[in-house]
Amino acid sequence: MSRFGQPCQRCQRCALSTVAGPDQARLLCSRCRREPFGLDACFAALPYAFPWSGLVARYKFADQTGWTPFLAGLMLAQPGVRDALTELGPHDWLLPMPLSAERLGWRGYNQAWELTRSLQSQSSCPARADSALLLRTRHTRPQSELKRSERHDNVKGAFALEPLRATHVAGRRVMLVDDVMTSGASLLAAATALRLAGAAQVSAIVLARTAPT
Ligand SMILES: [Zn+2]
Repeated sequence: MSRFGQPCQRCQRCALSTVAGPDQARLLCSRCRREPFGLDACFAALPYAFPWSGLVARYKFADQTGWTPFLAGLMLAQPGVRDALTELGPHDWLLPMPLSAERLGWRGYNQAWELTRSLQSQSSCPARADSALLLRTRHTRPQSELKRSERHDNVKGAFALEPLRATHVAGRRVMLVDDVMTSGASLLAAATALRLAGAAQVSAIVLARTAPT
């Protein structure tokens, strides 16, 4: 959607808003046409900009978990999202981006897990949803406090699979779920951990995505 909720076209790999070329079978932004991106596909429902950014911040920080079904519904309304979820198999995974144990303790809930469960229940996605398979192994500074150039290093190596079940993603498709995607550094770091564990495909669905910079 655009700033005030009108649908907009997004790159199918990184979810930046973009315009279609004349004969593109798959809509990709200019950067994704030039170089590989760490996700096989990415979907976003809202621009992370006024007025949506205020709503997302309240959802995230002010214990507004009652909004979850509505927000997950916005995600499911995006072209391709429902198909991407129902095409997953019963051995594939629907995984929320994890919080560190420290941050989960402060906040009391992981909003990405709330969205994951609602996406699954509203779509009848057959994949397994799990909030303890992908772990954040260390506490990192909030990406929003960092410069773009610092974000990659901040989250590098910050994700790992739960050791006793690390093989469970081998050969499987994984759909990550998160609330906000800015540079994408966290999602890409998580995707790297999943691919190292043998995941065949890693895609993502996010509630809100920043505009191109
Ligand atoms: Zn792109």
